[in-house]
Amino acid sequence: MFANDLKLTQNSYYAASANAQPNYPTLGEDVEADVCVVGGGFAGLSAAIELADRGYSVVVLEAHHIGFGASGRNGGQLIAGLACEQDVIENALGFEAAKQVWNMSLEALDLVRERVKRFDIQCDLTDGFMGVAVNAKKTAKLNDWLDGMAQRYAYDVQRIAPNDIKTWINSPRYHSGYFDKTGGHIHPLNYCLGLANSAKSLGVRIFTNSAVIDMQQGETATLHTKRGTVKAKFVVLAGNMYLPEISPKLAPSLTKRIMPVGTYIIGTEPIDADLAKELIASNAAVCDTNFVLDYFRFSASNAKNKPRMIYGGRVSYSAMTPFNLTGKMQARMAETFPQLANTKVEYTWGGFVDITMSRAPDFGRISNNIYYLQGFSGHGVALTGLAGKLVAEAIAGQSQRLDVFAKIKHHDFQGGKWLRTPALVLGMAWYQLRDALG
Ligand SMILES: Cc1cc2nc3c(=O)[nH]c(=O)nc-3n(C[C@H](O)[C@H](O)[C@H](O)COP(=O)(O)OP(=O)(O)OC[C@H]3O[C@@H](n4cnc5c(N)ncnc54)[C@H](O)[C@@H]3O)c2cc1C
Repeated sequence: MFANDLKLTQNSYYAASANAQPNYPTLGEDVEADVCVVGGGFAGLSAAIELADRGYSVVVLEAHHIGFGASGRNGGQLIAGLACEQDVIENALGFEAAKQVWNMSLEALDLVRERVKRFDIQCDLTDGFMGVAVNAKKTAKLNDWLDGMAQRYAYDVQRIAPNDIKTWINSPRYHSGYFDKTGGHIHPLNYCLGLANSAKSLGVRIFTNSAVIDMQQGETATLHTKRGTVKAKFVVLAGNMYLPEISPKLAPSLTKRIMPVGTYIIGTEPIDADLAKELIASNAAVCDTNFVLDYFRFSASNAKNKPRMIYGGRVSYSAMTPFNLTGKMQARMAETFPQLANTKVEYTWGGFVDITMSRAPDFGRISNNIYYLQGFSGHGVALTGLAGKLVAEAIAGQSQRLDVFAKIKHHDFQGGKWLRTPALVLGMAWYQLRDALG
């Protein structure tokens, strides 16, 4: 399914601007640890840091390299909340627990800032997030949502009325919006590499090019790679969509609950700082409120004080990369910002998000000592950090907060491996039509 996936990493702005990192070894022996974490993305590395902080010996096994997956490729947007609406969580858990979940999503934003500061991670952390609506009908919906969130969740943001929107974002596409100072953006690959360095500094043993191909469960679990094993009292599976691809037999019950959705990003040539300021005055990350959304922001400036536009959008429900991807993305960016119509695109890359049926995240255990974190549904830059913390709390005997999430019921995507994708395509076509009709 991911035959195209490697190609999607080959022209990434993040890879081209990655900070230096150590060469992590490949597992070539039999080792023991209190906890074995599968996956060197945000979720796995966050769990590793939190576990090491609590005194556990931790091994991280990564099939490729640190940040190979979604964590090294995403839009870098730090956004409050979950991928689903809060009413999905309220319906599943009731209001009090839903409020706890919402507050944890805010804690996740603080955790990113805390880690950047504590470990001095160089990842261009910038404050500010804007949600924007594309027309009057969407503005009305956005305002209803903001009213409800203010009353019920005390979510306090600055509203941007239609008359003011152009001073915030100079685009013909947007009608209104809101600014949330608790959101923001980062260079995700550098953040991920920084998390790995931080974990290493706490004694975590990290092995790359070390795919877990089999696991024997039991009081002590044994995880097998091609050239070594790890025996561990606890396991954290944090492999995103790659887990079922790399090791389909590891946790088959989890596989049916997530589907891969491709999403893509372009990076332009550096542009003048004045033009960047004219386009997004606050330098916030921006995301529209459509179901199938566009998300964009500026990168940090280069030595000549010029940032790049990092523009994400388009989705694909098969593992195939869309035809003429760069051209289509460029055209989309130019619709949003006609001022960039002649700006060159220098990078195009993409990856897969692990969506659940309800878009609520899927955290829990498959047995007493095997935990998993998946289903971030495209909303995981901040939430993965919190998820890692929750799993560490649970392993340390405090499972109350993880259990709040574990109580959310998830449904399987129907139809088995080959029919699930067409069913999803049909479902998504409906949502795209709904976006188009306003
Ligand atoms: C293009 C794109 C844009 C996005 N934009 C945003 C955004 O702006 N804001 C936001 O909040 N979210 C965004 N997301 C989602 C966010 O990036 C993810 O939710 C998050 O990075 C998931 O982290 P993770 O650690 O769960 O998974 P990953 O980062 O995918 O890490 C999983 C790792 O596990 C490894 N692995 C899997 N199986 C095995 C195995 N058997 N053995 C060893 N290793 C294994 C993989 O190689 C991979 O490196 C985006 C995602 C994509 C793809």
